[in-house]
Amino acid sequence: MHRASLKTHLLAAGAALALVTPALATPTLASEPPLRVLATVGMIADVAQNVAGDCAQVTALLGPGVDPHYYSATPQDVNAIAAAELIFYVDRALEERLADVLQRFRERTPTVGLLATTFAAPDLLDDPDEPGVVDPHLWMDVSRWARTAPVIAEAIAELRPHCAAMMAANVEALTVQFTALHGWVGEAIASIPEGQRLLVTAHDAFEYFSNAYGIEASEAIEGISTATEASIADIREVAAFVVERAVPAVFVESTISPRTIEALVAEVRRRGHDVVIGGELFSDAMGDAGTPEGTYIGMIRANTVTITEALGGTVPDWPLALHGWADAWGVAP
Ligand SMILES: [Zn+2]
Repeated sequence: MHRASLKTHLLAAGAALALVTPALATPTLASEPPLRVLATVGMIADVAQNVAGDCAQVTALLGPGVDPHYYSATPQDVNAIAAAELIFYVDRALEERLADVLQRFRERTPTVGLLATTFAAPDLLDDPDEPGVVDPHLWMDVSRWARTAPVIAEAIAELRPHCAAMMAANVEALTVQFTALHGWVGEAIASIPEGQRLLVTAHDAFEYFSNAYGIEASEAIEGISTATEASIADIREVAAFVVERAVPAVFVESTISPRTIEALVAEVRRRGHDVVIGGELFSDAMGDAGTPEGTYIGMIRANTVTITEALGGTVPDWPLALHGWADAWGVAP
């Protein structure tokens, strides 16, 4: 190429760039595609989507009824993990098998373990069966789960800095809702007559709930993890508790086969006592998408109503701060 023409060419290119760059700068920022965020469980995905608004497209890997303790990644899951720009999970104590797959992607994709990032050891409960092993079921205490919202916002803001102010406002609005929800759950559980605040479930997912809301004692057939089958000895032990404390109702869980609790009821009856199944609780997954229980607030609300009514309490009025949520979901407040 002739020297003069090369110079002309470069100048032309420079001029074109100079024209294009400022014109594109602002629209690029505003029209940046939503960040592809992947959350393992719905309870994280719901908070993350509410925090991020249009700045992120949040997907949950595990749907309704799926037990995160027991779940292994499918090839499609691995593709979804590979396509994500930011990943949130709770802790290896919950996503026991997925954690290894997430570990493989850690170097190329920012990955946030919410338990370790949000909480210090004194904020956490231990596995009652294995002291020193952490209990991961933090979403059961709304005040604890609320603390993940700013952590999620901060992680997204690292990749979408222009979204930070909007997300700060969303975190503030969510905090108001979660504070109201927390108070409401406490009021509901306090309405259960003393001596009946006893929560018997299939697996140990309700220690944070019990701790936060004044359940006197909780018993579960299986431990924190569901990776091993419940034994006859486990069922007998819980049956003895149900008989001794005259527990009025026991609960099945959405992510666990009802057979375990049915076996418990049969064992209690064999001992000449009666107990009913008080309903189904959402333990380690939310309800179906598109239903109120498919949101974090709705999941906690449904669990609280089920527990309160089955154990002889009175469900209090739905808080004013959550009337907007109720209207959006067509739920009578
Ligand atoms: Zn669990």
